[in-house]
Amino acid sequence: MENPLWHPFADMGAVDGDRFVITRGSGSYVWDDAGRRYFDATASLWYANFGHGRPEITQAVTAQLEKLDSYNLFGYYANEPALELASRLSSLAPVPGSKVFLASGGGDVVDTAVKIARAHFVHTGQPEKTHIIGRTQGYHGTHGFGTAVGGIPVNAEGFGPMPSGFSHVAYDSVPALEAEILRVGADRVAAFFCEPVIGAGGVLLPPEGYLEAAVEVCRRYGVLFVADCVIAAFGRLGTWFGIDRWAVRPDMVTTAKGLTGGTIPLAALLVSPEVAAPFFTGSAGAPVLRHGATYAGHPVGCAAALATLDIYEKDGLISRGRELEKPLADALAGAADHPLVAEVRAGLGFLAAVELSAEVLAADPGAPGKLQRLVRDEGVLVRPLGKGIAMSPPLVAGDEELDLLAAAIPAALSRLQ
Ligand code: PLP
Repeated sequence: MENPLWHPFADMGAVDGDRFVITRGSGSYVWDDAGRRYFDATASLWYANFGHGRPEITQAVTAQLEKLDSYNLFGYYANEPALELASRLSSLAPVPGSKVFLASGGGDVVDTAVKIARAHFVHTGQPEKTHIIGRTQGYHGTHGFGTAVGGIPVNAEGFGPMPSGFSHVAYDSVPALEAEILRVGADRVAAFFCEPVIGAGGVLLPPEGYLEAAVEVCRRYGVLFVADCVIAAFGRLGTWFGIDRWAVRPDMVTTAKGLTGGTIPLAALLVSPEVAAPFFTGSAGAPVLRHGATYAGHPVGCAAALATLDIYEKDGLISRGRELEKPLADALAGAADHPLVAEVRAGLGFLAAVELSAEVLAADPGAPGKLQRLVRDEGVLVRPLGKGIAMSPPLVAGDEELDLLAAAIPAALSRLQ
């Protein structure tokens, strides 16, 4: 009898009997159940930004469990770690005075952002402003609204009708965004969702000037700019939130993953004071955001996040994402020259993708998965993504780990055919 565990985004017919069991982790490495060591070049799922196995997290989580193991945030309840975390995130936020809505994962805060965008306009006398624009290849989680705003068609197929009021524009075109706002009508568009660097859609870097111009267009038409920084934040792009690498003012910023380095599920949505204003009137009787989940602001998750922020500060990890972007691109130069490779996308933040050539993909659409296996045989974990493989190593990785990557990918490519 196979194990009943059902994996996300998995062909269970293939996975059953072929599971890859990770049993422990330390720094940039993890070990499988056969005791073999791997460089975790994906930081698990873009999130183990400080690597694995930091005792500070264990201590903070244990201390919090001993003091207050759980309590909810509904109504007037609060807990000390949630209050401290909100203050700390708000003080770091790209928009001063941002409010902080806590949840359990990236998809939660994406759906929260859709609701807050729409509710903001309901409470500012523009209830027709409900339409949400996303980008082709955008990924915003797998909840209802996040699936609808995402721009990877296959992720929305086979689930019946999607929520209405969503459309998509080419990920790299500001004129397309403006044209779509005008087509729908500026008085009907609530928000534009944008990853600073598209992650799960294939590591697609924004063209020079794109983000500044997109924010400008949104501002001109009264459309909220939501920066989905679930991957980009906490050092991945070399800044606290990712979007703050550019001199722009987002209306909302989603974060999760690196917020706790993935150690405990937690997410935070930063909401600019202007967007939050209808709900913070300063006196009782303000509109109530009837939204939130049981584990919002879980004290243990918040304690893990506070310890995580300490690690980032103490070890100077936030700027590493920028310092390491060129070394990562250099490490992939060998792959870029390989005849089976169409393109290497790297050089902005500590993440990259190696895209296979059209001929390789035409001959075998499963080639990215095969390449992942072959790289794994070389002792390195990468992720199959669209037309190739992606990497987003821990920010504690150094020369030794980048050398492993530089050797592993060409070696695996040479065994692909
Ligand atoms: N937004 C972005 C940009 C993401 O990359 C992801 C996950 O990879 C999500 C949202 C969804 O986060 P979660 O998987 O925690 O729901």
